[in-house]
Parts: sequence; C-alpha cells; structure tokens
Amino acid sequence: MKYSIVNNVKHPPFKGGVGICACCGNETVAKCGNFKVHHWAHKSRKHCDPWWENEGEWHRLWKSYFPVESQEIIFKQPETNEKHIADVYIKQTVIEFQSYSIKEDEARIRESFYNNMVWVVDGCKSEFDKIYFHQSVYTPHTDDVYLRKLRWVGRGKILAKWSKSTKPVFIDFGTDLVWHLLQFDPKTKHGLVKAIPKEDFVNSFGGKYT
Ligand SMILES: [Zn+2]
Repeated sequence: MKYSIVNNVKHPPFKGGVGICACCGNETVAKCGNFKVHHWAHKSRKHCDPWWENEGEWHRLWKSYFPVESQEIIFKQPETNEKHIADVYIKQTVIEFQSYSIKEDEARIRESFYNNMVWVVDGCKSEFDKIYFHQSVYTPHTDDVYLRKLRWVGRGKILAKWSKSTKPVFIDFGTDLVWHLLQFDPKTKHGLVKAIPKEDFVNSFGGKYT
C-alpha cells in the first residue's frame, strides 16, 4: 500500500516507519528498498484485503494524479463485513487500476462489490498487445475524431477479455491517451474504441494530470 496510518494521518512509507493499516487495523512496516516501489507491508496479511496486489510504477503513477484523500479508500459490505481497498474513490466513482492479469469471474465480483466503478487497464503488460492494437485501429468516416474502429489482428486476448466487463474499461497502451473500449466482438474481432487524452480523463474525475 501507498498509505498507512501514522499518528492518525495517512502517511507514505518512510525508512523505519511503522504504521497501522486503515483496512484491517494491523501493524504495517515501511519497505523503502532500492528495487520495489516504496510501500507499506503487513506483518501478517491474514485479515486484510485479499484483492490487494503489490503495486508497480504504472499503478502508483496513475494513483498520484488524484488527491491523497481519494486514494486507497476502504469499502465495507455491511452484512458480511467484507472489506476492500479501492485504488481511488472520487466523484462517487471507484477507479481501479489493473496491471496484473485478473480472472474474469474475479473481475465481475469486484464490479458488483464496488458497483459504481471504472477500470483503467495496463495495456503494456505484453509488449505485443500495444503493437497489435495500433495496427488494428482505423478511422471510420465520422465527425468524431477520437472514435476508431478496429479489427484485432493480434493473438492476445486483452480486448476479448475486457469486452465482458459490466463497467467502463479504459486501456492505457503507454501513450498520452486512454482507449475507452466501447464494443468488441470476440468472434468477428471487430470493435469500436474511443481515444481520450489522459489529461481529460483525469480532469473529468477532478484529478490533476502532471
Ligand atoms: Zn490490512
């Protein structure tokens, strides 16, 4: 995690730091090594959010566009006491940044847990997907300059997989744009995507793209 509670405030990790996890209330220790992104780790993760994954630079960068008070927000299901940490919660919307591969059924469970949410997916986990994506898109004859049709030429399943989402999906292929996946038919491999400048995307949620 990027934040733990230290002296009652949300605190980033610092050398030798000890804090309290805002989700489970257990002790966390700051990890400020040279190789991994600095983070807080639990001594025991047993009672904390099983959905939580270690974050890389991509994940951290995206979170940093949003105010600290909107990052790592705990959601609790009142009946079951199930708790999860949303990456960002702002303007009554959860934004989940997904860099590792998530199983489809797990993705659907998260969508129903958070309900009002969008996904931002790291499209650069496989170096081929982004190459194939840019080979697949073409401009339809419309007035909307940001709209692209596509015929997927790649072997990767990134579009097929995320087309099953019940919530909006925005894919980051490592440029200054995110691609809103509007339609994709896994059988014909035809689809429709819309380019959104990252700055506009972040601003629309009240964040700041820097
Ligand atoms: Zn915890």
